[in-house]
Amino acid sequence: MKTNKLNIYKDLGISKEVVDFGEGILKDLKPRFDKIDEMAEINQLKVIKAMQDNKVDDACFSYASGYGYDDVGRDTLERVYAQVFKTEDALVRPLLACGTHALSVALAGNLRPGDELLSPVGKPYDTLEEVIGIRKSKGSLAEYGVIYKQVDLKEDGYFDYDKIREAITAKTKLATIQRSKGYQTRPSYSVDEIGELISFIKSINPNIICMVDNCYGEFVEEKEPSEVGADLVVGSLIKNPGGGLAPIGGYIAGKKEYVEMAAYRLTTPGLGKEVGASLGVMQSFFQGFFMAPVVVASALKSAIFAASIYEKLGFKVVPDSKEERHDIIQAVTLESKERVIAFCQGIQKAAPVDSYVVPEPWPMPGYDSDVIMAAGAFVQGSSIELSADGPIKPPFNVYFQGGLTWPSGKLGILMSLEYLKRKNLVEDL
Ligand SMILES: *Cc1c(COP(=O)(O)O)cnc(C)c1O
Repeated sequence: MKTNKLNIYKDLGISKEVVDFGEGILKDLKPRFDKIDEMAEINQLKVIKAMQDNKVDDACFSYASGYGYDDVGRDTLERVYAQVFKTEDALVRPLLACGTHALSVALAGNLRPGDELLSPVGKPYDTLEEVIGIRKSKGSLAEYGVIYKQVDLKEDGYFDYDKIREAITAKTKLATIQRSKGYQTRPSYSVDEIGELISFIKSINPNIICMVDNCYGEFVEEKEPSEVGADLVVGSLIKNPGGGLAPIGGYIAGKKEYVEMAAYRLTTPGLGKEVGASLGVMQSFFQGFFMAPVVVASALKSAIFAASIYEKLGFKVVPDSKEERHDIIQAVTLESKERVIAFCQGIQKAAPVDSYVVPEPWPMPGYDSDVIMAAGAFVQGSSIELSADGPIKPPFNVYFQGGLTWPSGKLGILMSLEYLKRKNLVEDL
């Protein structure tokens, strides 16, 4: 290692021992990283092609206010998304506050009283429990008479085709398929696996709308679920496709009629996609989408680096250091409260924003244990930026994700290790 680099790591508070340990791990990761760069290249080219084909220009970045009729930036961006996701149409808006809102709008727009909504992949993401009404809540789909059915996964974490067949009735209108495991222990699904599930559902009834919750999955593979039969793909711009630059937002891409139904729910019947001014966020939406393939690649490298380091130190990591990745989330089982705290404090210490803050566990609403969260982000709560959180309960998992640039992700992980080492919570490196 060049002294220059060692010195600056030292200035940031990282010991030579930790830097050397990290470099040793990195040597073996070269072929993995090359594959990630290859994928980022393909996705980057797709995005550029879509921007060129749709004639993105300076006018697309101008401020639109009021009703937003003919908001050229917004309409062009939606065509760019549709081209990249290979869908007929898309809704990409700051009016969609986040991923949960986009999912809620897509569901509520396409379901009617008496319709059945099926989750063939077990329990959905936490925030959707209240959207659907799995947990009683005001304004849920359940209150509007939408019936929810769930087929749990088999023990191996994959689809229970027999039970799915049994659960489908003449009333089944929409199936919601979550790509990323989120913060559960089941696997995240590859695009091809999702394609198989969709084919199965469509073989029973081709009219069932198959929607994929694509959060954390965009640009992790060369294909998106909309290329293997998904009628709708939905996600958050505070995650992958926002590229760290979008300050708010969500997207819904898919078949024209289903996107339109969602738009009538987002604004109003009759107005649909025609209104909703973009209020000056378009440059960040375009630029964020342009950056996203490389940002996602950085997050993937950071996740694989962390998995390799902590696996080497004897901890259980999911996914493990060798597995194919289907999202950007990494879990590490740290086995003690002290380690979870040290890990998160290290991540925070390495952030470009709020690095002087020391996170502590606290009883967050909606959680059944204290939780510690590390986030030093430019966009509040952004989880495409390096961030970590750990519920303070056995088996003392820490979940982390993001890293807008690979060197910043690397620094965060080295700092987490530095904190564990300083507190004698890991063996000698
Ligand atoms: C983050 C996430 C959501 C919700 O997105 P927000 O932008 O946080 O509202 C939904 N589903 C999955 C799988 C997620 O990871």
